[in-house]
Amino acid sequence: MTTPPTPNLFNAMSPALSLSEIAERLQGYDPQALSARHVNDFLAQLVQPVCEQDSVPLMQAHGRILAQDVVSPISVPPHDNSAMDGYAFRGTELLTNQPTPLKVVGTAFAGAAWQGTVQAGECVRIMTGAIMPAGLDTVAPQELVKIADPKSDTVHIPPGLLQTGDNRRLAGEDLMAGLPALRAGTRLTPAACGLLASLGLPTVSVWRRPKVAYFSTGDEILSLGEAPREGAVYDSNRYTVAGMVQALGCELIDMGVVRDEPSALEQAFGDAADKADAIITSGGVSVGEADHTKAMMKKLGDVAFWRIAMRPGRPMAVGRIQRGERAAALFGLPGNPVAVMVTFAAFVRPALQQLMGWQAPPLPLLKAKSTEALRKKPGRTEYQRGIVSTNAAGHLQVSITGNQGSGVLSSMVQANGLIVLGHTQGHVAVGDEVDVMMFDGHL
Ligand code: AMP
Ligand code: MG
Repeated sequence: MTTPPTPNLFNAMSPALSLSEIAERLQGYDPQALSARHVNDFLAQLVQPVCEQDSVPLMQAHGRILAQDVVSPISVPPHDNSAMDGYAFRGTELLTNQPTPLKVVGTAFAGAAWQGTVQAGECVRIMTGAIMPAGLDTVAPQELVKIADPKSDTVHIPPGLLQTGDNRRLAGEDLMAGLPALRAGTRLTPAACGLLASLGLPTVSVWRRPKVAYFSTGDEILSLGEAPREGAVYDSNRYTVAGMVQALGCELIDMGVVRDEPSALEQAFGDAADKADAIITSGGVSVGEADHTKAMMKKLGDVAFWRIAMRPGRPMAVGRIQRGERAAALFGLPGNPVAVMVTFAAFVRPALQQLMGWQAPPLPLLKAKSTEALRKKPGRTEYQRGIVSTNAAGHLQVSITGNQGSGVLSSMVQANGLIVLGHTQGHVAVGDEVDVMMFDGHL
């Protein structure tokens, strides 16, 4: 089922611009020294959200992106009800200087309305979640109430502890019938799924999950299972990218390693563009590359080759490969294992979120005090692997995880976040606050 996109969902909803048109609109665009900001701005114009909807059972909707606003069909809670086990009464009866005696005239259980009427001087024993009996507005929790004589049907509410309306939940205080409960573009977290369930909605309209094809390039790259050979390394990028793509909620098309040979590359890019909404590759995009990857990207697509003012990372190819009516977005990442993860986190992740139709707020950066001095050159963005912890004074601190080489995955594994040293920033002294992009399980 194909439906038109929600209007104004993204500024990128206008017809797709060519890469040179996007570049013209970006002030200070320099493909040979692109700032991280420019990369994000460029990709925000490049990527078109998928706009096909799926209707899925709520139990299968976790992590999906809502395709339509959800207007509450009912109010939650549907009735005023009790937040505690206790005694429901009229707040106006409360005495200020002495206990208020109230005669218990019945019991209201959750799940059915109590039908009696309550006169002045009377109350109703009530259970948590039970509908408030007509005319009653306040609940005295049972642990506050004094029962002087267990045989008596009168309870005493101590003075000074309660006000009218206490321990009563109002109808619609969570969700009001007719008002929007969730907006299109919201990711369905466990809380959001619970909220939709509270509205009684068994199915939900979500955007189709984007398909993301990935392959590694490079003749020195070994697939797992192959015998080690001199000068060759095992393909780790395939596994880091697969994890990051799937953690976002995209569908992965895993294409393994593709040999650095024109016909193999042409076949792989063609297959990927036929099947996928986005293509991610690693390797073969640096300036000195003698291989065929860049040439094939250029032949098949509208592609820009960048040198980004960042570390690690630097080379990256982006663009589109058109197949008939459809175009697949292309992200040609560098080969170094940490550079792949960092460029994914900084650039591909927000671009894929846009592809998913997810109106994701920017990842909040944490501020932590650096436990060490960090060397940093202004004029590029640096990402260092860090461990955030709480110091003895209860403040956040961050330490780097040792060897920051762009091929060193072990320091990535130890890290729980990336210290982001901004474009204009210089050296960091011990105790300076730095920004940290926390992994939160996605890297
Ligand atoms: P490249 O960007 O192709 O020049 O690769 C840079 C470095 O990353 C080289 O040392 C490659 O061997 C390494 N590399 C490239 N692709 C992969 C991969 N899929 N898995 C692990 N290392 C890789
Ligand atoms: Mg290479």
